[in-house]
Amino acid sequence: MRTIRAISFHDIEQNRPLIIVSPNGIKLLFLPLKNYLIIIMSNEAYEIDQYNADNHMGKLPVRVLSFTYVEWFLKIYPSFIEEFETEVQLFALKDYITYTIDEKKIESVAELTPNKNITIFETYNQFLWNINYSLIVVYDEGFHKPSINKTFQGNIIPNNLIDEAITLFFYAMSLISEYSKWPNYNLPNPEKYSHKRKQYIENCNGSFVASMTFILLHEFAHQYYGHIDSYPKSNNESKQLELDADDFAFDYMSKQFAGPKGKTMQLGIITGLASLVLLDSSLRGGSEHPDPDFRLKRMIEKMELSDIDNIWGIASFAFILWGKYYSKVISLPKILEDSKTLFYKIIDKMSFLKLNG
Ligand SMILES: [Zn+2]
Repeated sequence: MRTIRAISFHDIEQNRPLIIVSPNGIKLLFLPLKNYLIIIMSNEAYEIDQYNADNHMGKLPVRVLSFTYVEWFLKIYPSFIEEFETEVQLFALKDYITYTIDEKKIESVAELTPNKNITIFETYNQFLWNINYSLIVVYDEGFHKPSINKTFQGNIIPNNLIDEAITLFFYAMSLISEYSKWPNYNLPNPEKYSHKRKQYIENCNGSFVASMTFILLHEFAHQYYGHIDSYPKSNNESKQLELDADDFAFDYMSKQFAGPKGKTMQLGIITGLASLVLLDSSLRGGSEHPDPDFRLKRMIEKMELSDIDNIWGIASFAFILWGKYYSKVISLPKILEDSKTLFYKIIDKMSFLKLNG
């Protein structure tokens, strides 16, 4: 059997694609569309440096995780690789994933192109990593820990970790309207970091990689179902195809829910959809996509989580940060109930805001 496993890069200077094969045999085609300089703004010594110039193409620190999510995707369950190969051999799916390095603002999350190439974008990747980090840290430091300690009184009390997470959040949000270089390697990032940030960064890496696995499976579903072979007849049909692709990705990831990566997989699905909620103030999916809050609610309900699962709380914080950024008042209750109740209170508020602006 032929091995597929690919991602590709494009070397603009040489004007040729650059295909990198990782030690575990996964190929990536990287597609840089502009020249760049890497500027490391700090001379601090980092105890942990994941960067490897031979493997890690890209301009933002999220570049060090590209092989990891391709591997999680292809190994979502043991025989998935054969399904991928069948699509390649019989239905013209490209046998590589294109990682686009274009130094542009977020223009797309991911695509299955008309020539059947699953394509992802570095700017959105970094956005998604930062959203994962800020949701996890602001929830844990600002709400979960104070709730356990019974010191929570309805407000998030800032600390150094929360300040950094909010800085990362605002950098991520800035990428929606304008591209800029990674601001500072002293801020938490997956590439260079110290032991004191290791735990949150590596937790975030897990949920980010799971989010990207969900996105790759969603794009693969469009291929598997032949969605790009015919035009949807209506907006409603188009939206239904998106929900079908979400369900496909969910079902494949759920094969691991009972395993060691189960919670990470569940969290990644939710933070991935939360990132779509944050992309604009409208909570509308437009003519082709269902509303992102609806997609998130649909997936979290399918997980059958316990009432106190932190994933409800982290999902709630997506809407709290959304409100903070787009100047909508979404307040936290002073008296804490379980995190599922918090989620539904916030969802009700969001429905009200959608109806009343
Ligand atoms: Zn889609």
